[in-house]
Amino acid sequence: KLYNQVQDLKGSIRVYCRVRPFLSGLSNYMSTVDHIEDGNITINIPSRHGKGRRSFNFNKVFGPAATQADVFSDMHPLIRSVLDGYNVCIFAYGQTGSGKTYTMTGPRELTEKSQGVNYRALGDLFLIADQRKDTFNYDVSVQMIEIYNEQVRDLLTGLSVPDANLIRVSSTSDVIDLMNLGQRNRVVGATALNDRSSRSHSCLTVHVQGRDLTSGAILRGCDVIASLAQKNSHVPYRNSKLTQLLQDSLGGQAKTLMFVHISPEPDAVGETISTLKFAERVA
Ligand code: ADP
Ligand code: MG
Repeated sequence: KLYNQVQDLKGSIRVYCRVRPFLSGLSNYMSTVDHIEDGNITINIPSRHGKGRRSFNFNKVFGPAATQADVFSDMHPLIRSVLDGYNVCIFAYGQTGSGKTYTMTGPRELTEKSQGVNYRALGDLFLIADQRKDTFNYDVSVQMIEIYNEQVRDLLTGLSVPDANLIRVSSTSDVIDLMNLGQRNRVVGATALNDRSSRSHSCLTVHVQGRDLTSGAILRGCDVIASLAQKNSHVPYRNSKLTQLLQDSLGGQAKTLMFVHISPEPDAVGETISTLKFAERVA
């Protein structure tokens, strides 16, 4: 189970829950979410799922009105620790259409305001690296892969390879260019986009190497940002490429933040509850 694998990753794991708004904007009164209070979210369960209410607790819950900036607002210390030589993993979990890509990357028509965690994390990295330029010299490189049907594909070359390329970047605009390239490579060859997105996991890995300018000491940190589609029962995570990747990238000493995503639509309530139950066990 993914749960065991995540537990195996050790380190401290924080869990944030995010509810996306209704896409039509019309039917908020129908939301599955009864109310949100601090780290608590209460779901209305319709009669066919055993009528009632159920509450779940997380480190934080973001409601449908939360902005991308709100969601990123307390992640600065996590990003700083990558430059201090720690490994960090930020991953999104949830059913297809629940908002994983939105949180991690942003909407299709991206503006500066709607940029997701990927962009903000890298922007932060360059900012902090620049603030430290008198004492540290940092090299930043990124790798972007997709795992689809147990095949690892390098999104920056478009090729299917066991080990993906690391590409050196020196500014946020470099990163934006690479991210666009990655997105294009992700879409090419998709037969049914929906089916694809329910079975594909994407992962951006950022490697940071810092050299202390006085002592010459080297420190290495890494920031893994992944988006994991909620499992279909016939696609086990155990021993999967995905699990392997998470373990390889994180070793035993990572700081992990999981964003669990849910949709507000009543017809998704079954998925919503199973997503929340999974996430609560991890928290
Ligand atoms: P997933 O990656 O989990 O399949 P997406 O991120 O693609 O889901 O989200 C599905 C749709 O909902 C997209 O059109 C996306 O732009 C929109 N969406 C998701 N989250 C939000 C949000 N917080 N605010 C506005 N629109 C959102
Ligand atoms: Mg997606």
